[in-house]
Amino acid sequence: MANWLAGKVVDNRRLNDYLTSLIIDVDLNGYEAGQFVRIGVRDGDDVIARPYSLVNSPEEKHLEVYFNIVEEGPLSPRLFALQAGDEVLVSDRPSGFLTISEVPEAPHLWLIATGTGIGPFLAILKSDAVWQKFAKAVLCYSVSYTEELAYRDLIAELEQTHGDRFCFVPIVTREEFTGGLRHRVPTVMQNGSLEQFTGLAINAENSHVMMCGSSEMITDVSAALEARGMQKHRRRDPGHFTTEKYH
Ligand code: NAP
Repeated sequence: MANWLAGKVVDNRRLNDYLTSLIIDVDLNGYEAGQFVRIGVRDGDDVIARPYSLVNSPEEKHLEVYFNIVEEGPLSPRLFALQAGDEVLVSDRPSGFLTISEVPEAPHLWLIATGTGIGPFLAILKSDAVWQKFAKAVLCYSVSYTEELAYRDLIAELEQTHGDRFCFVPIVTREEFTGGLRHRVPTVMQNGSLEQFTGLAINAENSHVMMCGSSEMITDVSAALEARGMQKHRRRDPGHFTTEKYH
């Protein structure tokens, strides 16, 4: 059974009316980049909590979660309203297998995210393990509108630090956009434009693919990868793609 740690909000960095990053000061004892914790608030004698992936690398002082407000939800509107100094609860047991230590070696790592699913991949890209294990990492990040492309400064820093070992593929699906792709991930995978944009092939010999975000995207991309002879990775049956759905 996980216990609740009492954390304090350091900052609530709103990107817009429905997306924000909450920075939390709490004594969490170790976690692996790509994992999630449960975040909650008190509700009388109860706690309302949900899992949220961590955006910070394990070396960073504060925890960071990136999420969208679900208007009718019991928790996200309350988290969205928190301000510096407010209490927020954090479970003491980070969980999840969307981590570099769980994936087999391959020359290229593909990190495919929709929306707030970008969070765990930023933690992974900030940590050393990914650059020790893979020759190249590709971050493919799909959002509906350009303003929803969060963490662009951090991504620019990664581009500068890692040069041609890092490739960023922004996808904006609902408005004109230059410098990236314009169609949903399953489409750009099937029509070859993702490989054309990166100059890299996705296949069982040279790639491991990690996915996070929309469940339908994960289902459709998994099917596209299976059609290329790739299979889901399991500890006892190593494969070529890893997914996480916690919703
Ligand atoms: P969104 O903001 O609604 O959409 C983001 C992008 O995903 C848009 O480009 C959208 O394209 C595209 N998209 C939507 N449905 C799709 C589909 N069926 N196939 C392919 N692309 C699709 O955000 P979202 O990605 O749907 O939501 C993020 C989800 O990630 C949330 O449900 C959140 O709970 C989850 N999440 C999970 C984890 C985890 O499991 N560790 C971590 C963080 C977030 P259009 O503009 O064409 O709709």
